Amino acid sequence: MRLRGIGPRWAEELAAIGVETIGDLVLHLPLRWMDRRRIDPLKRARPGEPLTAVGTVQEVRTLRTRRRGLDLMQLLLDDGTAAMRIVFFGRNYLAEYIRQGTRLLVQGVPRLGSHGLELTGPEFEILREQEDPARLTGWIPVYEKLGPLSSRRLRTVIAEALAGLGPVDDPIPRRITARHGLPTLDVALREVHAPPPDTPPEALAERRLPGLRRLAYDELFWLELALALARRQRLAERGAPVLDVTPPIRERLEALLPFRLTGAQRRVFGEITTDLASGRPMSRLLLGDVGSGKTVVAAMAMLVAVENGCQAALMAPTEILAQQHERTLSELMARVGRRVALLTAALRPAEARAVRARLASGAEAMVVGTHALISESVAFERLGLVVIDEQHRFGVAQRAGLAEKGTRPHLLVMSATPIPRTLAMVLYGDLDVSLIDEKPPGRVPIRTIVRRDDERERVFRGLEIALAEKRRIYVVRPAVEEGARGLKAAEQGLAEYRARFPGARVALVHGRMKADERRANLDAFARGEVDILVATTVIEVGIDVPEASVIVVEDADRFGLAQLHQLRGRVGRGDLRSYCVLIASAEADETALARLRVLEQTDDGFRVAEKDLEMRGPGELTGTAQHGMPSLRVADLVRHKDLLLAARDDAFALVDDERGSLPEALWREVWRRHGERLKLARIG
Ligand code: ADP
Ligand code: MG
Repeated sequence: MRLRGIGPRWAEELAAIGVETIGDLVLHLPLRWMDRRRIDPLKRARPGEPLTAVGTVQEVRTLRTRRRGLDLMQLLLDDGTAAMRIVFFGRNYLAEYIRQGTRLLVQGVPRLGSHGLELTGPEFEILREQEDPARLTGWIPVYEKLGPLSSRRLRTVIAEALAGLGPVDDPIPRRITARHGLPTLDVALREVHAPPPDTPPEALAERRLPGLRRLAYDELFWLELALALARRQRLAERGAPVLDVTPPIRERLEALLPFRLTGAQRRVFGEITTDLASGRPMSRLLLGDVGSGKTVVAAMAMLVAVENGCQAALMAPTEILAQQHERTLSELMARVGRRVALLTAALRPAEARAVRARLASGAEAMVVGTHALISESVAFERLGLVVIDEQHRFGVAQRAGLAEKGTRPHLLVMSATPIPRTLAMVLYGDLDVSLIDEKPPGRVPIRTIVRRDDERERVFRGLEIALAEKRRIYVVRPAVEEGARGLKAAEQGLAEYRARFPGARVALVHGRMKADERRANLDAFARGEVDILVATTVIEVGIDVPEASVIVVEDADRFGLAQLHQLRGRVGRGDLRSYCVLIASAEADETALARLRVLEQTDDGFRVAEKDLEMRGPGELTGTAQHGMPSLRVADLVRHKDLLLAARDDAFALVDDERGSLPEALWREVWRRHGERLKLARIG
């Protein structure tokens, strides 16, 4: 299709950024819409109130400001009811198009200037002679620049493309979209590029416009369909080691644990062992709140693997967490006479080489490590099970990469923090899910208290009492800076606490410290030789010192709720009543304090995570967007939760449908859109 104003050169530029078809163009959706549904008489203009007016230019003056040498253009716009001064800075070239007599639509917020009301740098449109301003009114889409095309140009180009386009083919069967009351793709696209004038602003702001909901549904549907296909492909696979729990192995498992499993632990372990014995590679997500006992379940699965003559690896997101896991596992495995190796980037090269050699020969059955574990140079003799303890750090693609190690190992992903169900569907939608929804018995709930910065002294007096009671205390400060400066800030924290509590033994752990030193300090704290451990969030995950019963988080509003919940989980692991004190920073406002108070009200990690998602969005919750979070342009996991649930059901039902009614075109579309991004192998 030919579009006015797009010559061969621009077409080439567009093709270079992947915009080759009209479809690519009309899928470039507006970022937002300008409300130009009403034209106001100029005499009604008020300072500070948005104004849209159409008038005739009375005079044009261009000058250059004396002091700063800036271009300055002034117009007087008259609409018959009044005249107003319009000012543009740095755009004197406009004088070529805007002259006396030009009809102009302007939109902006007038301010009171030295010569009365004036409008500076408004949005504007030049009306053709006699033109009805209707073309320029209504909800006006604002686009992100696309190659050589500005938002303004895109407006006409896309409108023209839509006008010249026949009905847009709908790749999703109508019976599905109709069921959710969603319009066809054709209607949706036209509506989103040009919302009807009676569309209320909230419908756009909250993404409730039917067309937006339809496009959100599409995005979620394609994503879930790709995940459903990945899952189906996985279920069709064979060739995973068959790991049985024979009676002797069951005995070993019982010897492993110093306590009885909770009902939930027993249930999920059952789900895991069923997978392990199936001959199909397991891909299971183990969800559970902090302290619900995921790690011991993972340890049991690892023991099953090695007792069946396979190797088992546990991969942790950080060095410190890997060390912690190695210690926990070593202690457990010692009870059954098994050894656990550690492989991280911090090992000396010779040591690392030795560990790698023992993994390759099969001499080492169990290993814990960081990313180093999946580096090219690591080979296993017979890897049967991989456990990933993650903080949403590994996306689908990375998981796929890991699964390529060895002959189809089983995969167990443990979420380090509880994540809302919706987010799990998007991040881990291809996995089977096991949920531990019960905590080990005998836990005394943690008392959480939010304090303002100016109540700090009160907190410190409380800490004096805690010290007198011989409690062990964590103090967490946000790592404001990376690297050496961050270390300095942490050391400053150490000095402050030493000065404030002269009788206490205070030590520091920080991500930038030397590993030995950090470990020594952690050990000293675990042994009770340190009273106050000042830390950055390196203690966030995995650290397990049951005797620690107080945690103070400084500048708590700098953290996400889910992260704070995770930190809070460092205490309340023993029999002692535990406290979590969140000190807000001096800058925290009422909203920030209200957010923190959610933690005073609930200790359910899933509810905390849900709130976090509502308040901060998925990007924050997952750390950064790159960490496996698919980019959603229209869909919003909070506002479109209903659509996500629907899209997931629909996609999975379509794929599970034995009659194979999945249209060929649909398959191709899915792979085109998501297959590449997810780095999934093609089917068929
Ligand atoms: P998670 O990994 O889910 O945060 P962990 O596996 O680290 O939880 O367990 C938290 C603590 O609870 C550990 O000290 C662990 O030994 C203990 N624990 C786990 N399961 C049980 C159980 N069934 N009974 C008693 N204590 C348990
Ligand atoms: Mg854990």
